[in-house]
Amino acid sequence: DSFEQFKLNKQILSAVQEVGYQKPTPIQAKAIPLILDGHDILGIAQTGTGKTAAFVIPILMKIKYAQSPNPRALILAPTRELAIQISEEIKKLATYTDLRQVCIYGGVGAKTQIEAIQAGVDILVATPGRFMDIYLSGNLVVKELKIMVLDEADKMMDMGFMPQINRILEVVPRKRQNLLFSATMSEKVLKLIENFLEFPLKVEV
Ligand code: AMP
Repeated sequence: DSFEQFKLNKQILSAVQEVGYQKPTPIQAKAIPLILDGHDILGIAQTGTGKTAAFVIPILMKIKYAQSPNPRALILAPTRELAIQISEEIKKLATYTDLRQVCIYGGVGAKTQIEAIQAGVDILVATPGRFMDIYLSGNLVVKELKIMVLDEADKMMDMGFMPQINRILEVVPRKRQNLLFSATMSEKVLKLIENFLEFPLKVEV
C-alpha cells in the first residue's frame, strides 16, 4: 500500500511525503479511489483514523488549480476547532498547489472572513451558522460548488444543526458530489444521509 497507487499529481504526492504520511490509513485506502471516481460517500470513521486527509487529498486532486473567484469545494464542520483542524490539514497538503482555502466560523467578526472570500477561494471550510450568515449577507457565491463534505455529521446533529444544513442544501447547486463522515449512526444522521447523499457507497473502518 502506498500513496502512489492513487495516481496523485506530483504536487500532492510531494506534500504527502513532506508531512510524513508513508502509507494510506485504511479509511484513506478505501475512500480516496471512490471519491476520485466521483461517488457519493458515507464514511464511518472516528477522529484519529486519518479521515480528514481521506477527503482532503481527493478534493485537491479534483479541484486541481485556482480558477474561479468562487469556491468549488465546501467542507462543513460542527465546531470552530474542527474547522480550523481541517483547514490546517488542507494548508499542509495544498502547499505545492495554487489552491486557495478560507476557513470561516462564528465567535469572531465576519469582516476579515468576508475579505478573504472576496480575494478568491477554491476550498471553503465553514461552520454551518457562519456559512449561512455570510451567504445571506450576499458575500458568498455558491453556484460553482462541485463537491461538498459534512464532517462529524453525528456531532452536527447532536448540536442541532439539522435546520441549518437543510437551508444550506436549498441554496447550493443540486448536481454535486457529496461526502458525509460520521463516527456513529442515529435516526437523525440517517435522515441527513437521506437528504444529502445520492446512491452513496459506504466506507467503514
Ligand atoms: P484525523 O483522523 O483526520 O483527525 O487524523 C488523525 C491524525 O493522523 C492527524 O494528525 C493526521 O496528520 C494523521 N494522519 C493522517 N493520515 C495519515 C497517514 N496516512 N499516515 C500517518 N499519519 C496520518
